[in-house]
Amino acid sequence: MKFYSTNSQDVKVSLKEAVLKGLAADKGLYMPEYIPELEKDFFDNIQDKTLPEIGFEVLKPFFCPDIPEDKFKALVEDALNFDIPAVKVTDDIYSLELFHGPTLAFKDIGARFMARILSHFVADQKKDINILVATSGDTGSAVANGFYKVPGINVFVLYPKGLVSEVQEKQFTTLGENITSIEVDGTFDDCQRIVKEAFLDKELNEKLILTSANSINLARLLPQSIYYYYGYAQLRKAGIKDDVVYCVPSGNFGNITAGLVAQTMGLPVKRFMAATNINDIVPEYLKSGLYSPKPSKATIANAMDVGDPSNFVRILDLYDSKHELVKKKIEGCSFTDDEIREGVKRVDEKENYILDPHGATGYMALEKGLQKGEKGIFLETAHPAKFPEVVEPVIGRKVVVPERLKAFMDGTPKSVASNASLEDLKAHLLK
Ligand SMILES: *Cc1c(COP(=O)(O)O)cnc(C)c1O
Repeated sequence: MKFYSTNSQDVKVSLKEAVLKGLAADKGLYMPEYIPELEKDFFDNIQDKTLPEIGFEVLKPFFCPDIPEDKFKALVEDALNFDIPAVKVTDDIYSLELFHGPTLAFKDIGARFMARILSHFVADQKKDINILVATSGDTGSAVANGFYKVPGINVFVLYPKGLVSEVQEKQFTTLGENITSIEVDGTFDDCQRIVKEAFLDKELNEKLILTSANSINLARLLPQSIYYYYGYAQLRKAGIKDDVVYCVPSGNFGNITAGLVAQTMGLPVKRFMAATNINDIVPEYLKSGLYSPKPSKATIANAMDVGDPSNFVRILDLYDSKHELVKKKIEGCSFTDDEIREGVKRVDEKENYILDPHGATGYMALEKGLQKGEKGIFLETAHPAKFPEVVEPVIGRKVVVPERLKAFMDGTPKSVASNASLEDLKAHLLK
């Protein structure tokens, strides 16, 4: 399989190049040259397949034989070493819990895949590979942990000063070793911009091998499609087959893009909903047909504080930039901080289920948008214990903190300060 840039169908690169570069030279995002359809067989008994079995089958067309099949199979098993249960919250709404990995957030899955795919491709390189990652919270910790102590790879995590929760920050600033945390005096959009500039900087690229680990990298994006199948498999086990609606709390729209790819490959999802906080650029586009990026606004669901979602161009690419078509596939829904708090409180009281602020938008969008006969499944993208400052005052008690999170909280944070400029970042990288 080859991969093209969203800015030019003529540029076709190998999997290795797409993964190592992250972003195409023309600033486009890579897309698979075609999206294969899975056999009907695969879906007929999907409910009997394990998570790694599903993962191997659905990703094989993209990653093999560039990665030999037996090696890829082992890689998938190693990356997916925790469960992703679909938990029933109400008669019609299920929560797909993506937080059972090392940093308690869905980005663990993409990051664990990417680390293993990259280390397959760099095994024969002489120079170290440098991963630059901009984070609004969860990406940094997932990537840092996914790559921690992987030989030949250095990770630089850029995060906005004061805009990341204490728990999130500790999950990457306490690691050390091959992980450097850079505290940027600016917003997440600044961090993202500087990383993009760094990839296009001539001097940096001459001196260093740089790659990205943001959701723009295909090695992170494509594996995220696995759990859409696995969630569906679990609904099938529960006797649900048709009229399944997936709802995805969205920021950079990588997660939902992976779902749309799964649907294109044949996964019988009736439709998708995209839930956002007040950074409602895509819901606005769905309504009006106009895409107007804005500076991001800070909210209590801060991993979705994105004013110019990077994967939006991939969604346009999937549907030939036709607004009518995109609108048919995705329904948008946005929520204020007060609505999110109200939702967390209500679902705790009525359903005895603790949502995190991101998952709460997904749950509420389903509550609003599900039609009669439909079953909804929202992606619970993080564990509520990662956002105690939001969740605990709302539910009026402590959230039980899983052991693996406690371990981070006891560590000593370390980071370097930087202003929001490429020059400053370059100084750190070239040191
Ligand atoms: C990153 C993140 C999101 C948004 O995912 P995108 O792929 O950027 O749309 C939602 N919730 C949580 C907890 C996240 O960390």
